[in-house]
Amino acid sequence: MNDTIQCPVCQNADGSSCREILASQNHFVDFECEVCGRYTIGPLLFIEEIKHDKRPLAPVQRALLSHKLCTASRAGKPLTITPDRLGYLLENSTLPNPVAQTANMVRYIGDEVSRSGNAIGQFPDNFHAIIGALNRKSAVRLAKELEERKILTTDLTGHPSPEFINVSLSLDGWERYEAEKRGEFKGNSGFMAMKFNDPELDPFVKDVVKPAVKEGIGYDLVDMNDVGRAGVIDNIMRTRIRDSAFVIVDLTHDNSGAYWEAGYAEGLGKPVLYICEKAKFDKEGTHFDTNHCTTVLWSRDDDEGFKKSLVATLRRSLNL
Ligand SMILES: [Zn+2]
Repeated sequence: MNDTIQCPVCQNADGSSCREILASQNHFVDFECEVCGRYTIGPLLFIEEIKHDKRPLAPVQRALLSHKLCTASRAGKPLTITPDRLGYLLENSTLPNPVAQTANMVRYIGDEVSRSGNAIGQFPDNFHAIIGALNRKSAVRLAKELEERKILTTDLTGHPSPEFINVSLSLDGWERYEAEKRGEFKGNSGFMAMKFNDPELDPFVKDVVKPAVKEGIGYDLVDMNDVGRAGVIDNIMRTRIRDSAFVIVDLTHDNSGAYWEAGYAEGLGKPVLYICEKAKFDKEGTHFDTNHCTTVLWSRDDDEGFKKSLVATLRRSLNL
């Protein structure tokens, strides 16, 4: 099936095209959308629901989903969307704010220009999904502002709706690009490093840690579940850590991935905050490299006490 169809996720709002490339036997379908990239979705009934707004999604939710799918697809790790996964994503993440969109834009332009040696002729159809903007219009508006601030260089063309041609970074833009690669940019979210699929830790992070961070200091806390892949050290995760304002690491299970992520974040100079289940900490402690670090202890019989200490420690670490 190669006919152009309406993308169930972005609904081809900007006139881009989408193809259904493979309908597999287990009611999952692969799509290739010019905006969302390659992704899998199922089961069939669910596809129909979100396609026809029987499961209503606000434009901002469709944009968020499109951004997630596009990011994963560009990293070569297409996501699969199921009803559960969709619920999780919508509950735990938000569209990047303009500061984070700016970082994404500078990174995208810098990467493209570095790779080809040429300015970008025109922004691609999925430009807004790459940077995490609501739609193309809002992405172009942000680009315009960055051009006015002399971070981007471009030739503007077209009337009445101007489009950018020959886009590159100014010297200030390149400095910013390099600074962001070194992790000096701080987004509006924190990163959670932890063991995945643990029956005790997963609900604790979802029901206690994330709400505490959101309510206490107004930051989202993201983990690798939010971008679709658990515990794999790859570029998506490095980018996530690099763009985070801080990292919280759970050491309860002596998870080697979590220790690696903590080390990576410490190396970038990010504030890193350790947490550990109290009984495990009292009995065995944590790795000697971290036992001098601030560790906030948790136990499920005192969620409120943990929340208070966590928020107080975060405020101290971030000078809030
Ligand atoms: Zn799409």
